[in-house]
Amino acid sequence: MSRKAKRRDSRRESSLYAMALSQFLKVRTTTDITNFKLAWPTFFPDAFWQWQINPAPPGPVDSDEPLPQLAPVSGWRAWQTVLREAWSEKFPLTETIRLLVSPTAPWRDELADMPVFDFQRAILLLSVERWRAKFCLQCGEPFAAEKPATRFCNPECFGLSRRVYKRQWFRENLAKTTERRK
Ligand SMILES: [Zn+2]
Repeated sequence: MSRKAKRRDSRRESSLYAMALSQFLKVRTTTDITNFKLAWPTFFPDAFWQWQINPAPPGPVDSDEPLPQLAPVSGWRAWQTVLREAWSEKFPLTETIRLLVSPTAPWRDELADMPVFDFQRAILLLSVERWRAKFCLQCGEPFAAEKPATRFCNPECFGLSRRVYKRQWFRENLAKTTERRK
């Protein structure tokens, strides 16, 4: 299979995954769960549907009083709530990482308390905005680009680049010629 065909194929597959995820947003009842599992048997790990979360009591914690024990909530429902929020906010990095990590390493307390590290945000950002991962055309070192068009890691490399040098040379000479013509 050609690289292009492979990319086209994986794009079609990815859009199916996205569609399945939107269907999951509508899951409410046990019948919905059964139907979703029939259509997508391996979409989530098996343990996902049994996962339990212990919600933290709302409000400030008073150390003198014993903490009220709240009944555990189902993990998939909590995950679905975070997914709905992420969906409406166009998938912010932090929520996206919680969504990515929690079902395979089930988080026992509220999803909002799940620690998210900057390395996860960085990896995710580079996976979504692939153009950011570049190698400098001048020095060959890897760098994270701010704009899609950036080709050099720093102004120094930009200045050193032969292309820019050539363009400058051309411009300077053009200026000289026009000056001579005056
Ligand atoms: Zn460079």
